[in-house]
Amino acid sequence: MLSWVLLTGLGVGMAVAAMAWPEFDAWEDSLWDRMPTSRKPKDGSDGKGDGKADELGAGESGGLEEAALDEAIPVYGAPDTPDPESVLDELPAEGEGDRRALARVDVGDGSVQTVDGEKDWLVHRVVPMETVDQIAHRYGVRVDSLRMWNGIKPETVKLKEGTRIKLHPRKIPPPRRKYEYWVQPGDSWWSIGTTFGVDSRDLRAANWSTPQRPQVGTTVDVWIDPVVYLWVSGETDSHVPDGVRLGAVGIGPPQNGRLVNGVQLPPHEAYTLKLPPTAYGTTHAVAHVVHAMDEFQRRSKYRRKLMMGSMSGKHGGHLTPHVSHQTGRDLDIRLPLLEDVQEFAPVTPSRVDWVALWHLVESFDVTGQVVIIFLDYEMQERLYRAAAALEVDEQRRKEVLQWPRGNKANLGLVRHSPGHEGHIHVRMTCGPNEPECVSEADFDVDAD
Ligand SMILES: [Zn+2]
Repeated sequence: MLSWVLLTGLGVGMAVAAMAWPEFDAWEDSLWDRMPTSRKPKDGSDGKGDGKADELGAGESGGLEEAALDEAIPVYGAPDTPDPESVLDELPAEGEGDRRALARVDVGDGSVQTVDGEKDWLVHRVVPMETVDQIAHRYGVRVDSLRMWNGIKPETVKLKEGTRIKLHPRKIPPPRRKYEYWVQPGDSWWSIGTTFGVDSRDLRAANWSTPQRPQVGTTVDVWIDPVVYLWVSGETDSHVPDGVRLGAVGIGPPQNGRLVNGVQLPPHEAYTLKLPPTAYGTTHAVAHVVHAMDEFQRRSKYRRKLMMGSMSGKHGGHLTPHVSHQTGRDLDIRLPLLEDVQEFAPVTPSRVDWVALWHLVESFDVTGQVVIIFLDYEMQERLYRAAAALEVDEQRRKEVLQWPRGNKANLGLVRHSPGHEGHIHVRMTCGPNEPECVSEADFDVDAD
């Protein structure tokens, strides 16, 4: 299994190399944690024009920061009405009957072959709901190569079921297998989907000729991905905490992908969720966020609740106003505030508990499953100094932070990105059971 994990990083990232990795999350900041900007003294005594030049000028405007305390930042709770698509997915099947024990489906051993160098053509048969991008991701090839090899027009997103696609694979997961599942009492599209590791919406769409609610005693077609199914139907996964469902996997890169049956961040003493409907992630990412939070509680004396912003929607895809956050492995966390600061006060440098933030970043790093953490460059200086005060040696500070080597340096786990002044944005890795997750391990981040 390890070999293809590596290869996912090496092979597929090329497909996304053209995408800029910096995040533009200014909206996140503007909602709840934007630093006061352009708050110039009325007499213009600092003589710096419109204030843009020093709006990030941490540490030199203490008096102004205090003024911002009166501005309570609204927190947007969950909408009252549940998402109608999810309601449909969770309606119980119609009809009556007895429940039968579910036999395990034989899908083979689920092994993924890696391919070294140039290989022969492989022919892929399109399965229902599969997209052109998804096929490219599955075999670790560039989307534009796949289109070129097969003369697929740029505007074509999906292909007809059974269409033969030829490609030079860089990895070869076992093909999806069609399984005819007999619907039982109590089933729903969601329960069937999560049982087999198939997205509930894809399942519903692939069985469009069935009435909207599944019918007991009839069959539905389930296109099983052997890799995901063997994981979901197997024993518990020792990397995943109890209560976190297996089988939530990402498809594609964070800027252009989706999420299969997302898992919501579970309740945890260390945090609260700002926007629960967008707090869904992959099993792998959520599991390691929980591990990081456990570690944070061990390392840090910080006992306020951290405020978790968005990960992804339940099925991923575009999440307004983010560029990424599409595949369930990006997470925004408001910078931890000092004990005596009111909970919803805007984040300003003097209100941040920089020591707690250092421990938070270290706790994520301990998981070994973080690709990158975005934080404004000027904020990194504060963090660097806090770590120095903790007697963290310089080498370690430089491993963790990009500062002071310039906000374009390909160095450090924490990188500058505009709009990340009031929160960090943590991107987790693709998990080992996600054949179509596209890793950016070979983005221009850390070219060395
Ligand atoms: Zn973000």
